[in-house]
Amino acid sequence: MTDTTTIAIDGPAASGKGTIARRIAEHLGLRHLDTGLLYRGVAALVRDQGIFPTDGDAVGRIAGDLTIEVLERDDLREDGIGNLASIVAAHPQVRAALMEWQRNFAMGGAVLDGRDIGTVILPDATAKLFISADADVRAARRWRELSKTQDIAYRTVLESIEERDRRDAERASAPMTHAADADLLDTSEMSIEQAVAEALRLVNEQITAARS
Ligand code: C5P
Repeated sequence: MTDTTTIAIDGPAASGKGTIARRIAEHLGLRHLDTGLLYRGVAALVRDQGIFPTDGDAVGRIAGDLTIEVLERDDLREDGIGNLASIVAAHPQVRAALMEWQRNFAMGGAVLDGRDIGTVILPDATAKLFISADADVRAARRWRELSKTQDIAYRTVLESIEERDRRDAERASAPMTHAADADLLDTSEMSIEQAVAEALRLVNEQITAARS
């Protein structure tokens, strides 16, 4: 029997949502899509091709032609690409082009993490979480990751996270917000193991409620 369970995990940068989503997917035997990689892939191509990130039509065409190989580029995690991703992600043309991609992936069951999964991409998801954490805690987590491979100041990371939060929450098209029926999980004071355990508990509760 095919498992058609779909799980939406949303939240801001470095909230822990990516790790939580991956671990939930492993636990439930579902596929996982980090949808931020799609926007990061578009941003990387925009940068390579010298397209103006503010040109919605041109960036939308790049999104429409996105191939899975792009998601394997090893520069997608760079801080600069994250920032550029949040600029290109504001264009409705880009969001429309990536919507079907994400819904097709989710068919047959999957865990998707991003900013608008519970609100726009999978409004009927079986379970929804919105993961948050204080900006300084998220910046410290992200800085620890990035500083393994690049020379970057904590302050720069904090400013970039705050700028990205603002852009993602204030854009007109699919802004980052929690779905009314999502469970909220603040991971500020949790280790990643505690956050994963609590997320699994909430998701299992929602799956049980959906099936009863
Ligand atoms: O999650 P990640 O930090 O990789 O996402 C990079 C950027 O892509 C975000 O700041 C956001 O602007 C955009 N994004 C989005 N919708 C999603 C996932 C990511 O707008 N579902």
